[in-house]
Amino acid sequence: MSVALKFEGYHRPGNVDQALEVLTEYGNNAQVIAGGTDILPQRPGGKNAGNGKHLVDIAHMGLDYIKEGKDGIHIGAAATINRIGAFPLFSSSPYLALSEAVACHSTQTIRNRATMGGNVCNASPCADLALPLLAFDVRLMVTGPGGNRQIPIQDFYMGTNLCALDSNEMLLEICIPFCEEKTGTAFLKLGRQQTAIDMALVNVATSLTMKGQCCNTVRIALGSVGPVPFRATTAEAILAGNRPDKETIHQAAKAAADASAPIDDIRATAAYRKKMVAILVRQALENSLRRYKS
Ligand SMILES: Cc1cc2nc3c(=O)[nH]c(=O)nc-3n(C[C@H](O)[C@H](O)[C@H](O)COP(=O)(O)OP(=O)(O)OC[C@H]3O[C@@H](n4cnc5c(N)ncnc54)[C@H](O)[C@@H]3O)c2cc1C
Repeated sequence: MSVALKFEGYHRPGNVDQALEVLTEYGNNAQVIAGGTDILPQRPGGKNAGNGKHLVDIAHMGLDYIKEGKDGIHIGAAATINRIGAFPLFSSSPYLALSEAVACHSTQTIRNRATMGGNVCNASPCADLALPLLAFDVRLMVTGPGGNRQIPIQDFYMGTNLCALDSNEMLLEICIPFCEEKTGTAFLKLGRQQTAIDMALVNVATSLTMKGQCCNTVRIALGSVGPVPFRATTAEAILAGNRPDKETIHQAAKAAADASAPIDDIRATAAYRKKMVAILVRQALENSLRRYKS
């Protein structure tokens, strides 16, 4: 990874209080760095670059834990993506959407440094882990000088590379609520070359919880087809309370495509991306359905 970044200062606090002190002291001139895999490859002057800033390294503050609590699975913001991939609970249903997203994220080398917190806070529209986290409806625990506050992930994204954190706040923890019984989840990613370091052209995650023969809770998350990763709520409503038969899934997938607002760029046209949203959502819903049964 070539590093073009020039920064003003580097701080390595030993705990959260010390990190907050530095963030408060330097305000907009401070930036948290975790794995650095988004920050360090930025071009000088790039939109989200830490250029000229005081970097606050949170990789050595004990925020790399993953533990089961009463209300769900708590993941420290600095847990690396490979660590998350190795957590046994995530390698089986109903958490497969997360392990699939991990497997599609970059390479082993990058995943050894890149953190879940960095993937979330970078607020890229194509961030792979954001999608299962939306499908799991996670809560984000944030801390700042005024104490801790929780933000539902749906309220966290404010725009491309913009999130709901104030400049003197940092993400502490991601809490994934335990999935209900009879839940199946899935993640799918379409890349241009389908190589390990491809950023997504379209990525989706779905979660279906069944009650009898009908869908009870449905979540459909879309990435790379709007300024932020988001839930396709109109598509979700088509399935909720109904049998997930072929026609209903088709209607929901079409509604998800209608909700997407992709752009034309060097990697794909908007029209192609929209078409692929419908295909990927249909496949992910079918995978989710198959998994809840197994
Ligand atoms: C070769 C390569 C391939 C990649 N492939 C993929 C891919 O396939 N899929 C994908 O989604 N991404 C990919 N990425 C992007 C990157 O690896 C991920 O977004 C990664 O998860 C970022 O985590 P990090 O710890 O390195 O973040 P950093 O670079 O340390 O930080 C990213 C942003 O988050 C902020 N931040 C980090 N932690 C916190 C915190 N706790 N509180 C507040 N703010 C915080 C930083 O200030 C910065 O703005 C790739 C990057 C490279 C270099």
